[in-house]
Amino acid sequence: MSFSSEVKFELCKMRHTKSCCLTAECAGMLLFSRHLSEEKISFYTDYSDVAEHLCYLLKKRMKVNFEHVVTDGGVNKVTVPELTDRKFIISKLKSGDKPSDNLIQNDCCVSAFLRGVFLSCGFLTDPNKEYRLEFLCPSKKMAQYLFGFLSGIIENPKMVERDGAYYVYYKHSAAVEDMLTLVGAVNASLAVMEIKVEKDMRNKINRVSNFENANFVKTVHASGDQTAAINKIIEKGLLDTLTDPLKEAAVLRRDNPEASLSQLCQISGCSRSGLNHRLKRLIEIADSI
Ligand SMILES: [Zn+2]
Repeated sequence: MSFSSEVKFELCKMRHTKSCCLTAECAGMLLFSRHLSEEKISFYTDYSDVAEHLCYLLKKRMKVNFEHVVTDGGVNKVTVPELTDRKFIISKLKSGDKPSDNLIQNDCCVSAFLRGVFLSCGFLTDPNKEYRLEFLCPSKKMAQYLFGFLSGIIENPKMVERDGAYYVYYKHSAAVEDMLTLVGAVNASLAVMEIKVEKDMRNKINRVSNFENANFVKTVHASGDQTAAINKIIEKGLLDTLTDPLKEAAVLRRDNPEASLSQLCQISGCSRSGLNHRLKRLIEIADSI
């Protein structure tokens, strides 16, 4: 089951008790359905739960006749066959060709309205892959309306046209979490937060491990250069010509070719900067031979 469908199932299980919110949810679903006019009202969805949810709202708040059929392709289609019923719905939801100004009667209705919109045309990408919540709007006008509506609630929505279709979307985790919480998909919101924490943790572990690898490679390189230099000095019979501190450093590195600088300091009791300086000096000497 996709993440999107899980959210929709979670939302369909909720039942508002306030009639103002039921009306707002019904408005959200119908305004963003495929057709909403006096000639035709039709709502399409892949999910029978969502279609049944709309039927419940139509019955409860609009008190109109409706039909719910499942097409051969398995798509659920809800229609309002009678003209008088369609006219009634339009008069409730629209003023002219715009959504009516009094769809949201009380503050409590905002989340119910958005829940309806999400059930109608919302889509969520699997948060394991990316954070993206988008609404495929039935027209440019409705996309602009939703964009304006959302801007006042969760900041930074985006709007785009792709192949003649209009999308309003968010693509950051905080907006996805906020929207899910707002519409009441609490389980889904928690799931997104959990995934985000896991991702952050994984990134952190990767960063630490990359850092450790880089340090390891650095140690191997440095040690290889130093050992080569010391072997050259020994082969040329010059070890005994070195000062005591340089000689000690040379022997120390020769006997511990795989040790990091810190480990060499621990073995010898030398300071890090002192020993580092001596090992560099040995390389310079070998280069000058
Ligand atoms: Zn309400």
